[in-house]
Amino acid sequence: MNQPRERMSAGVALSTERRGASMIIWIDVPGASVNTLGPSLITEFESVFGQIERDRELKGVVIASGKADSFIAGADVEQFANFKSPADAAHVSALGQELLNRLESLSVPFVAAIHGACLGAGLEVALACRYRICTNDAKTVLALPEVQLGVIPGMGGTQRLPRLIGLQGALDMILAGRNIRPARAIKMGLVDEVVHPSILLDVAVDRALGLTEGRVKHIGRRPGAGDLLLAGNPLGRSVVFSKARKSVLENTHGHYPAPLAALDAIRAGYDRGFKSGLNMEAKLFGELATSDVSRQLVYLFFARNAARKDPGVTGAAPPPRPVAKLGVIGAGFMGAGIAAVAVQEETLVRLRDTELSRVAAGLRAIRDVLKERLVRKQITRLQFEDMLVLVGGATDYSGFGTADIVIEAVFEDLDVKRRVLREAEPMLDPTAVYASNTSTIPIGKIAEGAQRPERVLGMHFFSPVHKMPLLEVIVTPKTDAQTTVTAVAYGKELDKTVIVVNDGPGFYTTRILSAYMNEAGRLLDEGASIESVDAALVDFGFPVGPITLLDEVGIDIGGHVGRVLGDAFGPRMAPPESLRRVVEAGRKGRKGKSGFYLYDDNGEKGAPDESIYVVMGRTHRREIPASEIAERCVLAMVSEASMCLEEGILRSPRDGDIGAVFGIGFPPFRGGPFRYIDSVGADVVVNRLEELHVRFPHRFAVTPLLVEHARARKRFHPGRP
Ligand code: NAD
Repeated sequence: MNQPRERMSAGVALSTERRGASMIIWIDVPGASVNTLGPSLITEFESVFGQIERDRELKGVVIASGKADSFIAGADVEQFANFKSPADAAHVSALGQELLNRLESLSVPFVAAIHGACLGAGLEVALACRYRICTNDAKTVLALPEVQLGVIPGMGGTQRLPRLIGLQGALDMILAGRNIRPARAIKMGLVDEVVHPSILLDVAVDRALGLTEGRVKHIGRRPGAGDLLLAGNPLGRSVVFSKARKSVLENTHGHYPAPLAALDAIRAGYDRGFKSGLNMEAKLFGELATSDVSRQLVYLFFARNAARKDPGVTGAAPPPRPVAKLGVIGAGFMGAGIAAVAVQEETLVRLRDTELSRVAAGLRAIRDVLKERLVRKQITRLQFEDMLVLVGGATDYSGFGTADIVIEAVFEDLDVKRRVLREAEPMLDPTAVYASNTSTIPIGKIAEGAQRPERVLGMHFFSPVHKMPLLEVIVTPKTDAQTTVTAVAYGKELDKTVIVVNDGPGFYTTRILSAYMNEAGRLLDEGASIESVDAALVDFGFPVGPITLLDEVGIDIGGHVGRVLGDAFGPRMAPPESLRRVVEAGRKGRKGKSGFYLYDDNGEKGAPDESIYVVMGRTHRREIPASEIAERCVLAMVSEASMCLEEGILRSPRDGDIGAVFGIGFPPFRGGPFRYIDSVGADVVVNRLEELHVRFPHRFAVTPLLVEHARARKRFHPGRP
């Protein structure tokens, strides 16, 4: 944004600038990269409103941000930790509501000049303005993402949004926290105008004056047929609300109360009026903001932010090397996926595979990922073309000599990976980082015989690369700090949440996932049905059950991982009989349309394939209670996670939580394995593990670390509630 010309300081974060008969309120929270709305900003706004009320000459006010790329990114989430009770949090919400009611009722019209992130409380401020203008910039995004933190909008958003854009549109935005880009925002009536950033301020000032002079009007959107038929009458609305409720419950399995509360607040506004709606909103906000679910989601929010600032090494970190060019060896599923995210960050990419046809297939796969973004209007055609130009491929290492990072994504086979490293290394610049995307093989083994082992590490991306938010960087004792920080910084550039772990079979994520999957397999050995195992873990909060996941990942791949980890860790990780047999029978899961479930011609999943029980060599069925199924699988994972911390594979419980939630779908509302132990109590976890260990010798190890936490009643996260 343009910097203000003459600023009158109105407070710490707010300053005002007079332009003739109009005023610009600049928001620039000091010492922060983005503006957030907290109690002190509210006080400052109140004093500016007083000033505006006294100013008889004033004809229009523009709210703008002094930050480069954000309007207001949301409420100050730090304050959530200070809420003492639901009533206290409700009171804070009511204060915010009053502020915006006052803004709305001032006789001078307000215009929101939006560039960059306009999220949560930021959008609620904009909604209380009489007119909204946003820029047509890729950084501009509008949303009410509160449900992602386990709460609902608490400054009138549940009331003003449906009144502005209609019930259906508001539900779409609020229930999922969906991001809205400028082109859609204007279409749905969320903003009144979209302009180029260079003229945003001038247009906003003009419209503010125009509103007073009567030459500009907020037109709003015309109700569509859906509004008239459904949202416009009580009976129709009740259909819309009950359908929305049903779909929320289907998606959340009842684990996330916020979207349901949002429905209640919106409905109260329709049924009993704006004021009642606001009261309901504040009350529900208060209850949610002090709930366990919200505490876990807020914890993850901060954990992720902290990971963003973590250079990846302890102590003094050298600056990362800039990455302008990436070499990718293996143009298969993962190699192409990595290349596709790299070109989106303007990295030049060279692909190498053994045959031209495979290079071509890789290029096609990259194109498909970008095409999807184009179709969804997330990028323009020009950007699409520019990105495609950045990638080229061959069957040799041409172009690799100038690569800053090389990522190997060839078959998961130690000999192949070693050979590829030996072959590639002489072609590379001595400073280039060499990363393997292996999901199981220790990096130290791949790096044996490397000329420059200090440049070698693991960059474990998850599939599909463009959708999965995690990158697990694996370092060996030989990897140097410069290599680590460069890989970490580049991972962040690719918009990934990065954790750095130490080397070992399966590192962290694959290892804990394997412990969990094995336990699911053992339950099948004991006679549990496929659907009962999946249902129990979906009910616990995983996005899909372990058996469905195995079909998705590929039974052959799962079998391979299971063997490698079984060899490495002995009986604790030995592959269960049933899974071993299915792997040997050559079933591959969804991709081969032959797995634990039936798949139709389109790959749609159906019922469990009964014939697989014969393949598994199963002679009996046994009902195992869902609670036992969930507990055994989850505790197998959790105890493996605590072992990873104890052995130093993990650098912190925080990384362990992030890795499990963002890499393998551990339920976010439980915060991650270490937050889970904290909330259940380490003593309870130890007792349960000991009982299970008696029943199943070799498994459910109780680690000294857990015992120590149980004995001293210590938490892995002592600070945050
Ligand atoms: P893939 O079979 O789709 O691709 C492997 C590609 O490597 C093939 O195109 C093959 O031709 C090529 N290749 C083999 N030898 C080569 C060589 N010497 N030089 C250049 N190219 C060569 O496999 P994938 O699923 O993309 O897996 C690649 C790696 O990523 C594996 O290590 C795997 O464990 C890991 N990984 C896979 C997933 C997943 O879900 N598929 C997830 C995380 C990590």
